[in-house]
This record gives sequence, C-alpha cells and structure tokens, in this order.
Amino acid sequence: MAVPFRKTSKTRKNKRRTHIKLRVPGMVECPECGEMKLSHRVCKACGTYKGRDVASK
Ligand SMILES: [Zn+2]
Repeated sequence: MAVPFRKTSKTRKNKRRTHIKLRVPGMVECPECGEMKLSHRVCKACGTYKGRDVASK
C-alpha cells in the first residue's frame, strides 16, 4: 500500500535500502596479473585463463 513520502523518515528509507548495493557481480582478481576480471572469463588485461595464455596467437 502506498505511504505518503513524508511519513517515511530518511532513516527508515535508508535502512530499507541497505541491501540494495552498487556492485559488479562475479569480479575476481586475476591470479596472473592481479587485475580485476570477470570470473570464468579470459582476463582482458593479460589474456590468460586458468594459468594458460589463450589470447596470443
Ligand atoms: Zn590477468
């Protein structure tokens, strides 16, 4: 049910939103170069996956 916005205090509103976060999911540190990368993806910075260089030809 709708509640007039003045009835909801800043504290109450902020407490309700504590579990709403800004985050990029699935980011891990690359074991090769230490850059942040998506897990289960080839590292963009050094082109390795599972310790192997898969980007270079
Ligand atoms: Zn890397």
